[in-house]
Amino acid sequence: MPEAAAPTAPSGDRIDRVRLSLVFLPLAAPVSDTKAHPGRSQPLTEVAFLFAEIGTVDGCRGLGFSYAKRAGGPALYAHAKELAPQLLGQDPNDTGRIWEDLAWAGASVGRGGLAAQAIAAVDIALWDLKARRAGLPLAKLLGAYRDAVHCYAGVPSTPLPEVVETAQRALSAGAGGIKLRLSQPDLAADLERLRVLRERLGDGVPLMVDASQQWDRPTAHRMCRALERFNLVWIEEPLDAHDAVGHAALAAALDTPIATGEMLTSVTEHAQLIEAGASDVVQPDAPRVGGITPFLRIAALADHKGLGLAPHFATEVHLHLAAAYPRSTWIEHVDWLEPLFNERVEVRSGRVLVPDRPGLGLTVSQKAVAWTTDHIEFTETA
Ligand code: MG
Repeated sequence: MPEAAAPTAPSGDRIDRVRLSLVFLPLAAPVSDTKAHPGRSQPLTEVAFLFAEIGTVDGCRGLGFSYAKRAGGPALYAHAKELAPQLLGQDPNDTGRIWEDLAWAGASVGRGGLAAQAIAAVDIALWDLKARRAGLPLAKLLGAYRDAVHCYAGVPSTPLPEVVETAQRALSAGAGGIKLRLSQPDLAADLERLRVLRERLGDGVPLMVDASQQWDRPTAHRMCRALERFNLVWIEEPLDAHDAVGHAALAAALDTPIATGEMLTSVTEHAQLIEAGASDVVQPDAPRVGGITPFLRIAALADHKGLGLAPHFATEVHLHLAAAYPRSTWIEHVDWLEPLFNERVEVRSGRVLVPDRPGLGLTVSQKAVAWTTDHIEFTETA
């Protein structure tokens, strides 16, 4: 059990307003990620976002969000609605205690998954608020190691001439590396696309591949051995996301680093993979693991083991967290979230820049307001 909670902040600031919104971001074109190819899921047409906006009596403001792809958005919103009233009157600086209190309130439905992701929006909003109060970008508040983070662009599994064209366009737009999705039913076709891409881009361009959990263990070993000759930065999710033993065997057998972790939803799940030696590059996703508070614990475990860090999705949040990681980092420049905010992620010479605005440096766009299907506001009653 956590220590006895101090529910109010008699001598300091306190939360007096919490607004939650459920927003459905439409995607410009349906996305058929690798998992869609074997028929496991339908192409993605929209992403659900839970926004949390938190205000205090001192006039501070914080903005956070979490998300759900395919199913789960309304459930995140419903869980957060149940938790939000207990934020009122709390000291917004007590991010650790508030996280524990909210987690314990929902403990009977689990410590990860959507129970954690409903808290993530609140936790991210409180860290945003903390950094805004300090007048610092979040990366600086956390203790930045760099002002810009290596970024790569993801290239979908389209026909070959298009793969090369998309990659070249991304590099011209500032990406510092290319990650190719491998998802052809014929394994030889995937290897051939990679061979052509490497040949066309040259040996100097950092290349990664993402297998999105599609292989069984024997196939993963065969494919990964065949991939060694391409000098990849990493091979991502060669196996089921929860197969720590299988990933560890691959990581031990290969020279090419193994990256995994995007699907995990708690510190404990990440700790199991890290302890097992399952990855050389960890890929936590702050909204997915419960927010910045748990993300920092995962980053500390990864640092202790000497691992690289390449956070998954939500570039707007993760650029701050990657900038505050002491070891090698990469971030994917995903532009999906851009319409939700008035600000843009800035990419220059292969890196995303940490913005100089306080907090995350984000404000909600009019488009996001228009895509809101439900919202609720809790305020302190006098
Ligand atoms: Mg991936």
